[in-house]
Amino acid sequence: MTTATAMRIPEPPTTPSAGRVYNFSAGPACMPESVLLQLREELMDMHGTGIGLLEQSHRASTYDRILAEAFESVRACAGLGDDWEVLFLPGGSMQHFSLIAMNFVPKDGWVAFADTGLWSHKGEKETACVRATKKTFDGATCRFDHVPADSEIADCAGATYFCYCSNNTVEGTQFARPPRVAAPLVCDATSDIFSRPYDLAAHELIFCSGQKNLGASGITMVLARKSWLERADRSLPPLLSYSNFAKTESRPNTPPTFGVRVIGLMSKWTHDFGGPAAFGPRNKAKAAHIYAAIDRSGGFYRPSMRGDCRSDMSISFQLPSDALVDRFVAESEREGLCGLRGHREWGGIRACVYNAFPAKGCALLAEFMDGFAKKNG
Ligand SMILES: *Cc1c(COP(=O)(O)O)cnc(C)c1O
Repeated sequence: MTTATAMRIPEPPTTPSAGRVYNFSAGPACMPESVLLQLREELMDMHGTGIGLLEQSHRASTYDRILAEAFESVRACAGLGDDWEVLFLPGGSMQHFSLIAMNFVPKDGWVAFADTGLWSHKGEKETACVRATKKTFDGATCRFDHVPADSEIADCAGATYFCYCSNNTVEGTQFARPPRVAAPLVCDATSDIFSRPYDLAAHELIFCSGQKNLGASGITMVLARKSWLERADRSLPPLLSYSNFAKTESRPNTPPTFGVRVIGLMSKWTHDFGGPAAFGPRNKAKAAHIYAAIDRSGGFYRPSMRGDCRSDMSISFQLPSDALVDRFVAESEREGLCGLRGHREWGGIRACVYNAFPAKGCALLAEFMDGFAKKNG
């Protein structure tokens, strides 16, 4: 086989099947139909056992296989070596801001934060409930219009770690690469994990809840360097302890078995379609359709972020009035373009175009935007 044949990467479907719409929801978000169909089958009968996915004991050999497959697919996508641990924990990513601090920050230690948007803003508050924090970048001073260059981040020396969000899901900004600061990096990558090549190995710990690029809500995946996990506080209750989750293969008690299966299938789907390396350019091309419509609207669509920080996952912009936002949402929905209303604390329109979002929907939204601007501008 020639390398060209061996390396041909299939393209994911570009349209939804009949009866389904383009779902731009921020999360829980759209999933690949092939994964949904496989789950539908597995709900009735998992691997010919006569027992459905939700009915499998987490100590049964079928679950051993589910877990092994999930670990394997995540590792394939993440491209991390054996010195990294993969954990699955119940609950959303928001609770990990405080949990990480409890596990790793000494009582007299502190956490450096880049406050670049709603999620890191909330995350800093969660963390501050258990340990000292310091905002080493405060996005409120620039209305969250960009993510900081390294030079804009205040000195982090002495912090146990520096915490940031790689993609600001509400505001629509994204880090091009991990920041370089004088503290270990911890990243909330909930809304852009596996969406592009990104230097995960620059971090000590990365966490993300499922409902965006990994499928189901209410579960969090943690990628952590083993040497970092070894530093975790061992006096914590075992069910709050990352090292205990590592020791017990993420099943110290009954785990969220469904979410683990979904993460496994989502990661396998991502890997089968070329992994982050292939999704990076795909997602950029998808987002480019919508940014082009913004740019040619003559100021009708008003993105609040700086051009060099535009996210390829969450595209956020304002309209001249709230009434026009309502009209935009109602009319786009009639065209099968759904879930476009912006976050309730930010307003405007937001199009989330995660890995599984079919490409054609971005071109259709751009077309709709052109027409809407012409009619209402
Ligand atoms: C969606 C999102 C969250 C919230 O996750 P939960 O699972 O609801 O806790 C946190 N961080 C980022 C960056 C997000 O996009």
